[in-house]
Amino acid sequence: MGVEDNADGEKMPASASVPDALPEFLMQMAPLFGAEEKQALSDYMDEGGFLTEFKKTRGLEEMIEEFCNVKHCIMVNNGTISLTLASLGCGLEAGDEVIVPNYTMIATPNSQLMFGGQIVFCDVEPDSLYLDIDKARSLINPGKTKAMIVMTANGRYAPAKMGGIDAFVQLCEEHNIALIEDAAQGLGSYYPDGRHLGTVGKCGSFSFSAPKIISTGQGGCVVTNDDTIAKRIRLKKDFGRAEGGGDVHIAIGFNCKFTELQAVVGIEQMKKLPGRVKRKKEIAQLYRDELADCPGMQLFWNDLQFTTPWFIDMQVTPPGSLKKRDELAAYLKKNNIGSRVMYPPIHLQQCFQETPGRQPPGTHPVSEEIGKTGLWLPSSIQTTDEEIKATCAHVRWFLANYSE
Ligand SMILES: *Cc1c(COP(=O)(O)O)cnc(C)c1O
Repeated sequence: MGVEDNADGEKMPASASVPDALPEFLMQMAPLFGAEEKQALSDYMDEGGFLTEFKKTRGLEEMIEEFCNVKHCIMVNNGTISLTLASLGCGLEAGDEVIVPNYTMIATPNSQLMFGGQIVFCDVEPDSLYLDIDKARSLINPGKTKAMIVMTANGRYAPAKMGGIDAFVQLCEEHNIALIEDAAQGLGSYYPDGRHLGTVGKCGSFSFSAPKIISTGQGGCVVTNDDTIAKRIRLKKDFGRAEGGGDVHIAIGFNCKFTELQAVVGIEQMKKLPGRVKRKKEIAQLYRDELADCPGMQLFWNDLQFTTPWFIDMQVTPPGSLKKRDELAAYLKKNNIGSRVMYPPIHLQQCFQETPGRQPPGTHPVSEEIGKTGLWLPSSIQTTDEEIKATCAHVRWFLANYSE
């Protein structure tokens, strides 16, 4: 880039010059499918299967069971229905209260509204973005609260300062509440004791939607070590059928089935998961190095030994500056760099101003702050080191030259 003249005609060092825009638009996140998926799909079509879920789906379930070291994996049509079925599998009914994080994807609370669950929003802990256990404890309504959903934001686990996941397990056992882990962002991430995220609560849920670490376009699964819950969920997802394809129904059920086409893709994606875990960690480390001590922002805490960051998440600082985050996003876009605003606080979403079952809007300072200052940077598995370095140079340039 060399040197440039500034307004006063003085020579400025190269590091202070405007970084170049990227030659092509860099998406914040895009799925990656390759020749292996294409070939597997073609081979499957030659086999003349029924396309609906069967042996390939079971094969994918077995791969996930093995990867996560969990007894049961049940594939379903997406990572929202998986949360609904996990809740029904745990015996939840209309009117039951469920504590949900106020910082999460909208699917977490909405999965409960599918069957008339009463959602109770709870703020998150500021470093891990994990459900704040003290606040969750204070929201337990004895006899009414039947479940608590924790969300593993970007693969983060419950931090030690909250007592780790075991403190949640204990709290839920004391109150006879089902602990459900929304681990949609947690595939490839572990608790420090080696257990995979999603396998500690009564049920865990994963998503395979387009932005996730591996994808089947749409798709999700429930994992559990509980035989009874697994059986209930298998019935619920296939019309309560006594036997696959038959018309004898022993339970009320719906149709939340997966497809073989997706399973064929999922099997190839699962084979790539260990490599993706490694690359995601490298990406996170590179961002960390490139943005070390960058004024005006911070990356969220991450333990790269156990956590596989799905998205790179950052916050502009000081707190409370809405314009700065949005102007950074606009500046990056102008330079061909995609970013995505982190989840707005759910209790302030327009849909919850009218939805029955909503909690009256309280204050949830941590999630409200993330809604103003949080930004996801380019995080696809295919992002190159050069693209990451360029992104970081732009973030630095913008923040160094920003004045409100
Ligand atoms: C992606 C995601 C979901 C929803 O998954 P879908 O498969 O899109 O329904 C649920 N919860 C969290 C935390 C997610 O990130």
